[in-house]
Amino acid sequence: MKKNGGKLLHLCFARLVFFTLALMINIPVEAAQPGDAAKLTQQYNAAVAQTLPFHDRQDFEDAARGLVARPPAAVIRDSAGRIVWNMTQYDFLKKDAPYETINPSLQRQAALNNLHGLFKVNDRIYQVRGYDLANMGIIISDKGYIIIDPLTSTDTARAAMQLVHDHLGKKPITAVIYSHSHGDHWSGVKGIISEQDVKTGKVKVIAPAGFMKDAVSENVYAGNAMMRRAQYMYGALLPRGAKGQVDAGLGKSLPSAISSSLIPPTDTVLKSGQEITVDGIRIVFQLTPSTEAPANMNFLFPELRTLFMADNCVGTLHNLLTPRGSQIRDAKAWAGFIYEAIELFSDKSDVVILGHTWPRWGKEKIVNFLNKQAAAYKYIHDQTLRLANHGYTMAEIAEEIKLPDTLAKEWFNRDYYATAGWNAKAVYQHYLGWFDGNPANFNPLPPVEASKKYVEFMGGADQVLSKAREAYEKGEYRWVAQVVNHVVFADPENETARLLQADALEQLGYQSESAVFRNFYLFGAQELRHGVRKPREKMTPPLDVVQALTVDMIFDSMAVRLNGPKAAGKVITINWHFTDTNERYLLSLENSVLNHTAGKHSRNAGCSIEISRDIFNKVIAGQTTFSARILLGQIKYQGSIKKLSELMALLDDPEPFFNIVEP
Ligand SMILES: [Zn+2]
Repeated sequence: MKKNGGKLLHLCFARLVFFTLALMINIPVEAAQPGDAAKLTQQYNAAVAQTLPFHDRQDFEDAARGLVARPPAAVIRDSAGRIVWNMTQYDFLKKDAPYETINPSLQRQAALNNLHGLFKVNDRIYQVRGYDLANMGIIISDKGYIIIDPLTSTDTARAAMQLVHDHLGKKPITAVIYSHSHGDHWSGVKGIISEQDVKTGKVKVIAPAGFMKDAVSENVYAGNAMMRRAQYMYGALLPRGAKGQVDAGLGKSLPSAISSSLIPPTDTVLKSGQEITVDGIRIVFQLTPSTEAPANMNFLFPELRTLFMADNCVGTLHNLLTPRGSQIRDAKAWAGFIYEAIELFSDKSDVVILGHTWPRWGKEKIVNFLNKQAAAYKYIHDQTLRLANHGYTMAEIAEEIKLPDTLAKEWFNRDYYATAGWNAKAVYQHYLGWFDGNPANFNPLPPVEASKKYVEFMGGADQVLSKAREAYEKGEYRWVAQVVNHVVFADPENETARLLQADALEQLGYQSESAVFRNFYLFGAQELRHGVRKPREKMTPPLDVVQALTVDMIFDSMAVRLNGPKAAGKVITINWHFTDTNERYLLSLENSVLNHTAGKHSRNAGCSIEISRDIFNKVIAGQTTFSARILLGQIKYQGSIKKLSELMALLDDPEPFFNIVEP
């Protein structure tokens, strides 16, 4: 059997891998580099510098406050010695003067997110910031440390903990809290504690209701597509620099390679108001489901007068729909839970700490921050629907919507992660879907066919490119990107089109206040100039995550890999008995769909398989194969085992590095 079980699942945060330097297409050396800022881009960025309150330096004070230690070079390596995190790459941001190729508002945010190290928040609360995309919180409990959110990767989490040990002393971890189900807040956990620590009761792991299901399921079915799009979103594979990646809005980026892990929680927060006392520290929780993440919570340390808002409030406007792809977030619920947090906690807090970006001190500032972040999501929600009810479509609303000055002039509501227009599109999609109601848009031609016809109707590629060049000179970069995309999709070998498109995307990137938009534009430009860089390493889901999946989820994820046309006319039924969990399943292929039923076996199955869940997990995680374990006698079967290989041969292994900016 083909060794393909390991590619069963691709988890969004599972692996970003190292790349070969081989270039896919031959581009002349001078065209391989990103361009300079055009005059109009320089003017655009200079105008931004005039419109925002750059004299307000409060954020810099707060982001620098309480610094305990900042290593001269925060460079983190994985077990193979490869650099996975390197803050020295951002030294160019220490320069105060603006770069022409960075929106000055984004440059400001990037400089703030550069302030990394170990920080003291108050007597018993510390944070490590800038050691990964998210923050790690450290509470000094009676006998050790309570950790909030152990980062994305075991390598970065281990390094952050080392920084704590070096400066606050080596003490045991008494509890770990996962604030929500996104991987940047839990998947580094085995860098700081072991499964054994939890089994023996030395460490509690606390998480919100629904955590396990949401942590593993969000990326299971569409994980391959999300992972590819996440490369665009975080820009982890872009060079750092004034013409490259400068930030990710929430923090610097994701590590360039991620070692994921997961330890299931021992204690679950089931309702708001629930209190847990761990090692002398009392914590009061507010459950906030269906906000920034499906399983999510804020919490207060009442004796320490410190509020933690997870990612529900951060130092930027957050995404209602992440551009890497996910289900839409509920803006109304999100705003509602922030307003509720003000009621519950603001009188009891002297400082608010966050899952990303720096803390804010003082009741007045805390309330202003929470109130205006809530209002931003509420405004976008309500105004999108107001305009939709007037008949405006998604693109029109996104163009129209602007936060009022009372919200927009607050730095924490700026567009560093999402933009107001992008979020308006998310609200529209949440309520009305992608269709604008115009029947011309019911069934348009797909991109390549449409592009070929557009280019032909517009007089051929040369004609389009010559007009597009004129539009480029006039600074109409959005239009150039839109129209030249047709030339690239009609003929991806057209080098002039690729390079003009890359030029336009770069100008858009240089002007973007949103780090996410900038990363998308610049990574798109890089792939137009160089083609797609394929990884050296095979991608497999981590065993910890596979173990947390239910058999239903694993069979469902096989179903979305089934190649329907190839499976036409085939009928395969397999009985599964998982010997260690004593679960039974019937897996059946018929009508080109793969279905499964729990607790059922068929007398007429082509094959009956007895396997332990443990071995099944290892096959799924790519650590072994069905055939190897059959040879070892660890998988028993009756009937024809060929049915299993026949079925597995019908499952696609999707290309992790599929094309995006070209067909
Ligand atoms: Zn996060």
